[in-house]
Amino acid sequence: MPFSEIHGQDRAVDALRAALRRGTLHHAYLLAGPEGVGKGTVARLLAQAANCEGGRPDDACGACGPCRKIERGVHPDVVVVEPERVMARAGRWEPKGGRTPSRDIVVDQIRELVDRRLSLRRYEGRHRFVILDPADAMNVQAQNALLKTLEEPPPDTTLALVSSSADALLPTVRSRCLRLGFAPLPVELLVERLVAQGRSPEKARLAASLAAGSLGRALALDEDALAERREAVEQAARLPPDDAGAWVAFARDRARDREAARETCELLLVWLRDVLARAMGGDGAPLALGELAQETAAAAAALGPVEAVRRGDAVRRALAALRHNAAPVLALERMLIGWFHG
Ligand SMILES: [Zn+2]
Repeated sequence: MPFSEIHGQDRAVDALRAALRRGTLHHAYLLAGPEGVGKGTVARLLAQAANCEGGRPDDACGACGPCRKIERGVHPDVVVVEPERVMARAGRWEPKGGRTPSRDIVVDQIRELVDRRLSLRRYEGRHRFVILDPADAMNVQAQNALLKTLEEPPPDTTLALVSSSADALLPTVRSRCLRLGFAPLPVELLVERLVAQGRSPEKARLAASLAAGSLGRALALDEDALAERREAVEQAARLPPDDAGAWVAFARDRARDREAARETCELLLVWLRDVLARAMGGDGAPLALGELAQETAAAAAALGPVEAVRRGDAVRRALAALRHNAAPVLALERMLIGWFHG
């Protein structure tokens, strides 16, 4: 897989390719940005490009010996460190002293890396890589154990710290890395990628609208669950403003648990964005919820832009309350009272 397969991350990718061409790779990169936008893929691709025998200084051919070994995870000079539990699932973790694998990257893993792997010479590669994915899974002791290596790395070695919550890393770790920012992917790009994978344009647009810029998240959305949630929006769109009994029934029905309530709210936000776009006169733009075009047009005409924004704010407050452990049914009820009696 060449760098041209990475979409929407030109700044980070261009910076790395320029460093590859000049032979000036930094000793430690922090690949930071949202989940599911290609950070881990870029880190592995960088290791391939730096060791590729395909003849291009700034890309990977994907077919030569080193490229294939790195892809299969068996290149001796490309070490991937993941949380113990992830490595256990992949059969790459041996039980130590009878304890169960941790969900962290623990200090033993970093010591093993620093004292053993990195103290040896390179075996066969031109440039050694250590990919910590996700780096924020390192607990504090593990991060501290890595500091000296970040300060004085062995020659021809690059550490790639992959993180979707870089703020969770110690400042001393962050400051020793060159930060490469990865952006959320634009909705249109997500739609294109999902359609290329065989989704219908309508389903792709809905999944893309809910995915907050993450292709990983868009791909993980379950289509049946989405269809059920769409019914919730349809119901909400038809709720009568003067029938409190109907709101209570809706809240009970859609807030069986916290997750269900949260998902309903997220989809309501997507729908209210559609309503706002229509109310502002944006007739041309495609709707995220294309199947609800009629309900959306009716709501846009009835509510207007100011009310659409106000209802969106009520949904955001409900989401915040759900994050802070509010009872799900109550959170939805309050949201609806805000809609109809705000
Ligand atoms: Zn290659």
